[in-house]
Amino acid sequence: MINRRTALKQTALAATALAGTGTLPALAQNAPPAPPAAPTGPFTLPPLPYPADALEPAIDARTMEIHHGKHHAAYVAGLNRAVAGHPDLAAKPVETLLRQLQSLPEDIRTAVRNHGGGHANHSLFWPSLKKGGGAPSGELARALDTAFGSFNAFQQQFTQAAMGVFGSGWAWLTWDGTRLRIESLPNQDSPFSQGRVPLLGLDVWEHAYYLKYQNRRADYVAAFYTIINWEFVAARFREARA
Ligand code: MN
Repeated sequence: MINRRTALKQTALAATALAGTGTLPALAQNAPPAPPAAPTGPFTLPPLPYPADALEPAIDARTMEIHHGKHHAAYVAGLNRAVAGHPDLAAKPVETLLRQLQSLPEDIRTAVRNHGGGHANHSLFWPSLKKGGGAPSGELARALDTAFGSFNAFQQQFTQAAMGVFGSGWAWLTWDGTRLRIESLPNQDSPFSQGRVPLLGLDVWEHAYYLKYQNRRADYVAAFYTIINWEFVAARFREARA
């Protein structure tokens, strides 16, 4: 039976043996290899098109910093991990990957859906916001009137879509090739994967608003209407129909 003193002695002897006989390098060789460095591309985090505090008070600076610098960055990293070892896919724009989701290799399909969707959705979100939003004009304004009855009716229906997201997701204004639609999609699912072009999206994940609004999603949605960059949305609308 090994008593405590014997055990201590054996431990000490073992330590001496390790220190004295060159066993340490052997142990190091048996250690698991260091994990490969995380891929830094091909997808990259686009810079915010304005300072983090530009959208105050609708969206506070701290939320912008974390949302862009941590959440969006994590989607970019996840997408890069997913396409590592798939040079053919890594060469395609993320929108193309999302349109072709069903034809992607099964083992990376979910990762591209989540992280690729997250990257595409947020890349669209930042430039669609600006200080002092206003209202749409021109062709887009007429198209919104035709599709939804009026700009007010558009806002009501879009708000309903945003408030109706259970859990995490987005409300979307999309173009389906024929008409404008309002819809909501769960998680980071992209309208591209539904065969539609996203024109304007509202992120209603709690990470988008919880620091300032806590559970008051309705207040966040109301504030969103004061910071929509309608010129950007109109340009996407023109491109989608071209
Ligand atoms: Mn988000």
